[in-house]
Amino acid sequence: MAKTSRPHKPPRPRPLPTLGAALRLRCPRCGVGEMFDGFFHMNTECSFCRLRFEREQGFFVGAIYVNYAVTVLIAMPGYFLLDRYGATLTHQFIFWGVFVVAFPLLFFRHSRSLWLAVSHLLDPGDDRWLKSIPKQGAR
Ligand SMILES: [Zn+2]
Repeated sequence: MAKTSRPHKPPRPRPLPTLGAALRLRCPRCGVGEMFDGFFHMNTECSFCRLRFEREQGFFVGAIYVNYAVTVLIAMPGYFLLDRYGATLTHQFIFWGVFVVAFPLLFFRHSRSLWLAVSHLLDPGDDRWLKSIPKQGAR
């Protein structure tokens, strides 16, 4: 039986280094390449290992959910915490109004980075690996 030339499957990534790289806004696979070259401008691929960051069109829509969830997880208990310490409703409205606008903007890069890291942990296959697998039925 002829041995097929199946590509080597990449090793399963470890959660802590991958999430640590995400918090440092680095590539989830190598931890070296920077994901962003500006505050809102994201690199298309890792400059070190060539991992493509946007796996498919619309991939980072999921990062919006991460951003929203983290914002709510801070604002909800924060509201009750400030209420417990006597903040007035007016002060709360102003503070949390500013917070829910400013925080998602500041957390934008980390939400994308965390989304990519979780995706990488669940499916570490990259473009080179996927492209080198022959399609079924192809000769
Ligand atoms: Zn990389």
